[in-house]
Amino acid sequence: MQASEKILEFKQVALSFGETEVLKNIDLSLDSGQFYTLLGPSGSGKSTILKLISGQLQPSAGQVVFDGKVINDLPAEKRRVNTVFQNYSLFPNMNVYDNVAFGPRLKKMAEPLIEEKVKEMLSLVKLSGYENRDINELSGGQQQRVAIARALANDPELLLLDEPLSALDYKLRKVLQTELRTIQRRLGITFVFVTHDQEEALAMSDWIFVMNDGVIQQQGTPEDIYDEPVNNFVANFIGESN
Ligand code: ADP
Ligand code: MG
Repeated sequence: MQASEKILEFKQVALSFGETEVLKNIDLSLDSGQFYTLLGPSGSGKSTILKLISGQLQPSAGQVVFDGKVINDLPAEKRRVNTVFQNYSLFPNMNVYDNVAFGPRLKKMAEPLIEEKVKEMLSLVKLSGYENRDINELSGGQQQRVAIARALANDPELLLLDEPLSALDYKLRKVLQTELRTIQRRLGITFVFVTHDQEEALAMSDWIFVMNDGVIQQQGTPEDIYDEPVNNFVANFIGESN
């Protein structure tokens, strides 16, 4: 796939829970191989957008288009999309190897290939040699590294990251910000990263969508957003310090 090819579009996507419209007329266009960030306060609709991409939710109106096909109703397991969550969501009763091998085993990949894959993924997240460790022996940062390796072992075209660094302390967050960027560049796959931390978004992204109240308030490069906020909401949100 060409680096500039469009991988995902939202066309006038809306989503309501009962009477409440939590996403309104969302238009998105994502090119492959880029690092995108959804930035906004709690409740602005960021996780809901990720669930529409992963197939956990279907839009009430509009179209979700993946590789040129409308996929509104395509089941989650048929999408080449994986998600990393804030709380790691690892299998606590499996060791590191089995956690990372889980997806490839489901796909019935041959064990020698799985072994190679697990090794490659653990090296990518700097956990080579941790194969036999129990999950509960690991620090929060290490667990999140395993979760990233496990998601990437499925060969997603799109990796969704829902506030993956929010539970970690400041120093570790900085380290993992840099490492995630490096991993994304090395693999060349598209990342959609969610955060409520404007500093994190500005430091990591090729392109930022600033959200509030189910609406994209502004999109652009970190420089665009920082230098020329289009309204008071964006100016205030970007200007806040954590
Ligand atoms: P964010 O990830 O930006 O914090 P969410 O996408 O989780 O925001 O939620 C957006 C809005 O949708 C919030 O007001 C939230 O309360 C509401 N919401 C999310 N999921 C549900 C649900 N299953 N039922 C009803 N309301 C929901
Ligand atoms: Mg959320």
